[in-house]
Amino acid sequence: MSLVVQKYGGSSVADADALKRVARRVVETVRAGNQVVVTVSAMGDTTDDLIDLAQAITDSPDPREMDILLTAGERISMALLAMAILSEGVPAQAFTGPQAGVITTEHHGRARIIDVTPGRLTRALEEGKVAIVAGFQGLHPETQDVTTLGRGGSDTTAVALAAALKADACEIYTDVDGVFSADPRIVPSARKLDRVSYEEMLDLAASGAKILMPRCVEYARRFKVPIHVRSSFSGLEGTWVMDETKEGDEVEDPIIAGVAHDRSEAKITVIGVPDVPGSAARLFEAVAFADVNIDMIVQNVSATVTGVTDISFTLPTAQVPEARAAIAADAAAIGYAELTVDDTIGKISLIGAGMRSNAGVSAQFFSALRDAGVNIEMISTSDIRISVVTRSEKLDDAVRAVHTAFGLDTEDGEAVVYGGSGR
Ligand code: ADP
Ligand code: ASP
Ligand code: MG
Repeated sequence: MSLVVQKYGGSSVADADALKRVARRVVETVRAGNQVVVTVSAMGDTTDDLIDLAQAITDSPDPREMDILLTAGERISMALLAMAILSEGVPAQAFTGPQAGVITTEHHGRARIIDVTPGRLTRALEEGKVAIVAGFQGLHPETQDVTTLGRGGSDTTAVALAAALKADACEIYTDVDGVFSADPRIVPSARKLDRVSYEEMLDLAASGAKILMPRCVEYARRFKVPIHVRSSFSGLEGTWVMDETKEGDEVEDPIIAGVAHDRSEAKITVIGVPDVPGSAARLFEAVAFADVNIDMIVQNVSATVTGVTDISFTLPTAQVPEARAAIAADAAAIGYAELTVDDTIGKISLIGAGMRSNAGVSAQFFSALRDAGVNIEMISTSDIRISVVTRSEKLDDAVRAVHTAFGLDTEDGEAVVYGGSGR
């Protein structure tokens, strides 16, 4: 008998009918002779609605209370799914993240899973039940407080459960047929990838392809959990996220796996920083102390006359207030003149393991952007990724132009988006 972990995202459980449809799919898996553990996201846009609700009460909700609020979303769907499966005549039991033994760090809003002690789940499975787990949440053992894992966190719950239970399969069900060469909502001619390596998927996810949460891919790579990303709306085979193609494999990897985009970042520019050793260190120490995740950094060449320079960096827009406060608190030591925030930037990234051995990729990327009239504001590269910051309103055009320039468009028909609001 195989043990299967299935995760259903928000758009797959958006309303009662959708929950019943998912229940039938779970029941089919059980009737095919498998043990099944299911993890679910909050219904539809529930998490966003709860965040809006909190914002309507206060500009800075208390992180602990915020986590209690947000975990309610997943608890609604887990209980309803259990009821739907029970109505199909199959035993099932729902568990909150803490009940399922998901142990996390303390960091509210972006806690990391450090361990899973799935005793109650194994007992439920032994009793012939489907175990349903609320995604996106866990417990910090010292404080005994409930935590959330960050947006998209149910993906990580699924992989962590699969690793802890030594599951035979980890299936992530969503509203598209798999991982595509670009977001099908922006590029209908995007092609479905049959297989993508952990390494490439990690860069795609970290560059904004929200089909999988980056932490989930990291976790899967570490514990060697192959992930099957597929649609809950079709019966099609999806994308396998797994180790690189083994030697002797017939498949020849394309140079580029895909194009990702991200509108969730902002750019802070610190103007008039003294151009002396230690300035950048002081600035970024202040920001790091506030636990802000910095992405790209650019320092302008300083004018010799003035001896000052400007430093720009990008960060998640949601963390701008913390970064701004941290820099202001250390203003005297950093000694800058002014700080500006630009939240109308967009980032486009090109990802592919084949880039390592292909020198012409950057030139081709930049000329595609030039032809599309897209101005480049910042650049960063790794050996398998090039990212560029541009204007947010230019981002969709940039993604389509680059996708076409690298020959990624498919003629096999438009990619289907089955549901979701894309929010
Ligand atoms: P779920 O609610 O199932 O977790 P998400 O909305 O988090 O779903 O992720 C699925 C969405 O990710 C798709 O609807 C699609 O718009 C978006 N997406 C972004 N990049 C990609 C990509 N490269 N391949 C597939 N989907 C992508
Ligand atoms: N409900 C959470 C979110 O919207 C977690 C998830 O869906 O994975 O981010
Ligand atoms: Mg998601």
